[in-house]
Amino acid sequence: MKKRDYNELAAPGVRELMPYTPGKPIDELEREYGVSDSIKLASNENPLGSSPKAIEAVRGELDDLWLYPDANGFYLKQALAERHGVDTDCITLGNGSNDVLVFLAQTFLQPGLESVFSQYAFAVYPIATQMVGATATIAPALPADHPMPLGHDLRGLFDRVGPDTRLVFVANPNNPTGTWLDGRRLKDFVGSLPPHVICVVDEAYTEYAESDELGDASTWLEEFPNLVVTRTFSKAYGLAGLRVGYCLSNPGIADLLNRVRPAFNVNSLALAAARAALDDHEFIERTRSTNSEGLKTLGAGLEKLGVKVIPSAANFILAGFDRPGGELNEALLRKGVIVRPVGNYGLDKYLRITVGTPAQNERVLSALAEIL
Ligand SMILES: *Cc1c(COP(=O)(O)O)cnc(C)c1O
Repeated sequence: MKKRDYNELAAPGVRELMPYTPGKPIDELEREYGVSDSIKLASNENPLGSSPKAIEAVRGELDDLWLYPDANGFYLKQALAERHGVDTDCITLGNGSNDVLVFLAQTFLQPGLESVFSQYAFAVYPIATQMVGATATIAPALPADHPMPLGHDLRGLFDRVGPDTRLVFVANPNNPTGTWLDGRRLKDFVGSLPPHVICVVDEAYTEYAESDELGDASTWLEEFPNLVVTRTFSKAYGLAGLRVGYCLSNPGIADLLNRVRPAFNVNSLALAAARAALDDHEFIERTRSTNSEGLKTLGAGLEKLGVKVIPSAANFILAGFDRPGGELNEALLRKGVIVRPVGNYGLDKYLRITVGTPAQNERVLSALAEIL
């Protein structure tokens, strides 16, 4: 029988799609390389694990796994509404905030329409755009010698917005660069966009910010009906494995997003864990202070090795080297250290390293010292 080329049958946007490149799981590394005692600093996970309150909440749900989850996530939405001072009808829950980013593309983009985002912005923006056959318009990042090297250029983003633009994606701080935007400047930018353009401010790492400089876009929702703010429980809350995130917007936008959202996209364990984690202020505080120390140690250690360190307001560092990142990554894997090569972003001589525990930070620094 003739083998069919299913590529021909696929929707045009899907044909050219490059799948998201995840960090290598520890099990896979140990299977493939025959090493043990490995560490993973590749996916910006919380090195302290999960909020103990969230784990307890998950245990409390285990007897009810045979029931469908609450499709409307009533209790989690109520807690989020209270936290952000918004109505529950402003909230859309996602299976991770990745889910919400896809809903935004499915809701507002189609062939002939455009999204605008920065070079070196989060990899899901181009994937979500392309998936629905829309066009990604990319604004060059700030130059490497700028005080915010490789960061978003708001002027450049604004200049690329046109009549066919429906979404602008801005990550603050951004992944994989760790760079950030001044909150007041970002707010002016949102205010300057024409009403047919929805600005998505992705605040996946906002809990890590140490100063008020970045601002809190969730407090601008009243002012800007075309603003959507995305948040996640995957990063500081330490619940990446459960997949839960959300966005805040005006109710009109949330209503549309909830129409494309699969009814049971957030499972019962995730709903319970997220709700409990939200109140675990002690865990978030410990997470923040561990990261703050770790950022300093890791940054200083890398600089001592002659590595270029891009400033970061998140829980990872983009590190620039004098040789291909892929090569260094291979050498690190052999030493049981998983970091993230970022060649897929066009950053061939860089690695993205998640801030770990003090011991993990020492381990990656000494492994790099040996290799370099
Ligand atoms: C990790 C990340 C997300 C969200 O991941 P989820 O696990 O899907 O919530 C969103 N945006 C950025 C910039 C990220 O780095």
